[in-house]
Amino acid sequence: MEIIDCHTHLVLPGDRRDNQPWKTFEEIIAIQRAAGITGAIGGGYYMQGYYSPETITYENLVAHNRRIAAVYDASEGFYIPGAEIRPVLGEQACDLARFCHDELGMCFTGEMFDHWHGYVWGTPEYYRLIECIIDLRMVPLIHCDNPVVHDIGTRYPEGRFMIAHMGDCKGENKIDAVTNYPNLVLEISGSEIMIAGRIKQAVETLGVERVVFGSDVAACDPVLSVLCVNRSGLSETEQAQVFAGSFRKLQKWTEKGTDTFSGR
Ligand SMILES: [Zn+2]
Repeated sequence: MEIIDCHTHLVLPGDRRDNQPWKTFEEIIAIQRAAGITGAIGGGYYMQGYYSPETITYENLVAHNRRIAAVYDASEGFYIPGAEIRPVLGEQACDLARFCHDELGMCFTGEMFDHWHGYVWGTPEYYRLIECIIDLRMVPLIHCDNPVVHDIGTRYPEGRFMIAHMGDCKGENKIDAVTNYPNLVLEISGSEIMIAGRIKQAVETLGVERVVFGSDVAACDPVLSVLCVNRSGLSETEQAQVFAGSFRKLQKWTEKGTDTFSGR
């Protein structure tokens, strides 16, 4: 069965991430393959920039995104490269999105956050970046609290977004927050994936086409994430849609294909 992991924190070839269970590129891809995952959107934290916003420059992120793009070949096509773009770059954030899309062929992003070092949701820079991403028909993966879910859902009906995790940082249920916005697809990684019935609830509430699989492999064991979907009570057909079909539909949208979500 095709299984696409829409939420991967890569370790780039040659790097090490000592504070995580899977510390190298080889270890990450091995555990994903052991889980039965057949492909993944691979985003990569810009590690220096995580802690030191002053190192987030256009040039540094161009170089970093080139390394992310190179994982497609390094993984023999397993990783679909996900862009690393920061609104803190201001006007250059749009240039970087365009570079990632036009030059590197990226149609998705790695996980972005509504607040992070140098990130604040609701600033003109953030909104402008999102508008550029929509113009390019890229699909970002955004980790955010429910008020931001509602803002994205209302503000950008013409875009497509993957909203990361089934619960937000305050423990609020994100399934309900996403419900009314057909432009939003729920990515199910995180601790809530372990709660019996939560995946089925997401599918019943949103429609199976608005639920995509992700493991959040830096924080979670993808073997367990896949097992949770297998044991969720979804039919084989529904599992196939969550594991890959819903992602393929988003991918088609990035190619300017027609698409309509049957979400309620
Ligand atoms: Zn997250």
